Amino acid sequence: MSDVKRKIGIMGGTFDPIHTGHLVIAEAVRIEYNLEKVLFIPAANPPHKQHSQIEPSIHRYIMTVMATYSNPHFYVSPIELERSGLSYTIDTVRALIEQYGDKTEFYFITGADAIQDLPTWRHIDQLLDLCHFIAAARPGSICSLDHIINNLGVKGRQRIHRLPNPELEISSTDIRERVGLGRSIKYIVPESVESYILKEGLYSR
Ligand code: ATP
Ligand code: MG
Repeated sequence: MSDVKRKIGIMGGTFDPIHTGHLVIAEAVRIEYNLEKVLFIPAANPPHKQHSQIEPSIHRYIMTVMATYSNPHFYVSPIELERSGLSYTIDTVRALIEQYGDKTEFYFITGADAIQDLPTWRHIDQLLDLCHFIAAARPGSICSLDHIINNLGVKGRQRIHRLPNPELEISSTDIRERVGLGRSIKYIVPESVESYILKEGLYSR
């Protein structure tokens, strides 16, 4: 049997809505790390967004499917939507290891803002044993990525890798605000996502 490991990317997010920033970063990581595929995993109840109003998961899931369908390497997994309770990444990664086998290497794709929060993630120490983290630069991060990685000690330095990407000034928060104000979101989200948002009246006040 071959010892070559499968390499799979995980792009977790609220995707409220999914945007070009998510897609560009995921594709850059796929190419840089030669990943077989990237699984986009919409969170049902993100622990860090318990106090914010988010759109029902069915809308976020449909938009994620529409945004990714044309890339043959992109897939959407409903794994967190099918699980009740808060969406902890450690539970998701454990379930994926069970599904794909422990010969698979997982690459969790995040922006610098998420890396900043990593020390507060549930069982972060075990999570760093189970997958690599790829940190994409993002505008507006408070501390430098190197500083954050160093604070996570040896394991952080071994398992968190920086993506040499240009920063993209795109966020779902900005998109929701733009829609609320009646401003254009063309080219910030795929055309199908733009049409869906307008048709369903999402984010309009
Ligand atoms: P919100 O403004 O609602 O928090 P968001 O744009 O941050 O939305 P999320 O669904 O929260 O999108 O993010 C999912 C993942 O994608 C996170 O790891 C986040 O850091 C990353 N990400 C989102 N936008 C970018 C971007 N422009 N550049 C790099 N990473 C990004
Ligand atoms: Mg966010």
